[in-house]
Amino acid sequence: MTAELLNDSIEKRKSDVEANLEEIREKIKVSCEKTGRNPDDILLLAVTKTVPAELINHAFSLGIKEIGENRVQEFLSKKDGLNLEGKKVHIIGHLQTNKVKQIVGKVDMIESVDSVRLAKEINQQSEKLGIITPVLIEVNIGYDDNKSGVLPENLYDLLCEISKMTSISVKGLMTIPPISDSKEKTRQFFCNLNKLFIDITEKKIDNINMCYLSMGMSGDYDVAIEEGANIVRIGTALFGSRL
Ligand SMILES: *Cc1c(COP(=O)(O)O)cnc(C)c1O
Repeated sequence: MTAELLNDSIEKRKSDVEANLEEIREKIKVSCEKTGRNPDDILLLAVTKTVPAELINHAFSLGIKEIGENRVQEFLSKKDGLNLEGKKVHIIGHLQTNKVKQIVGKVDMIESVDSVRLAKEINQQSEKLGIITPVLIEVNIGYDDNKSGVLPENLYDLLCEISKMTSISVKGLMTIPPISDSKEKTRQFFCNLNKLFIDITEKKIDNINMCYLSMGMSGDYDVAIEEGANIVRIGTALFGSRL
C-alpha cells in the first residue's frame, strides 16, 4: 500500500516536472524576447537538493543537462543512481574547506567560492588530480548577514589572489540576493551584480574569464535574465516544493 502510494506520487511528480519545465522554458523565452537575448544562451540549472534520483533522471530525459546540488554528502549518496553521462553537476551551496577533497574531480563546477582559503584548497586538490576546476565566485551583493559570499568591495582582491592559482579557473560570478517581497528590489541587486561583472570583465585579470553570471531562482529568474543572468538556478518551480 505504502509503496503503491509512493509510486503514484512519483508518477504524479514526473508529469508535474514535464508541465513545469514547459512553463519555465516559455518564461525564459519571454524574458529573452524582452531584452533581445537568445534563449539558447541561458543555462537552466535544475536545482536537485532533496529531489530523488528517479525524478532527476526523468528531468534528464526531458532535456535537462546540468544540475545543481547544495550538499556534498547528499550528492555523493545520490550520484550512483543518476544517469550522469553527458550531464554536468554544479555545487551551489556553501562549501566547507574540509569537504573539498570529497568533491573535486566529481563535479563540473563549484559556484560558491568566496574566500582565498577555500580557493586554495580547491586548487590544491585539483592539482593532485591533475585537473583544473572551473569555479564561480559567490558575491554577497545585498550585504546580507545571513548569506555567504565575498563582499563586492573585496571581490577584486580575491580574484587577484585566485588568478595566481593554476589548477582553478574562475568563470564568472554567482549570487543569492536577500529575500525580498519586492521584485524591483531584487532587480536592483541583480543589476548591481551585472555592473560588477562588466567591471571585472573590463579589468582583464589573468586567468579570470567572466563567462557566467549565475543569478535568479524560482521566484525571480525572469528578472535575473532581464538583468543579464546566463545561468538561472531553479528548484521548486521545476520539481515542486521541497518536502
Ligand atoms: C535551493 C537553491 C536554489 C533554488 O531555489 P528555488 O527557489 O527552489 O528555485 C538556487 N540556488 C541556491 C544556491 C540554492 O540553494
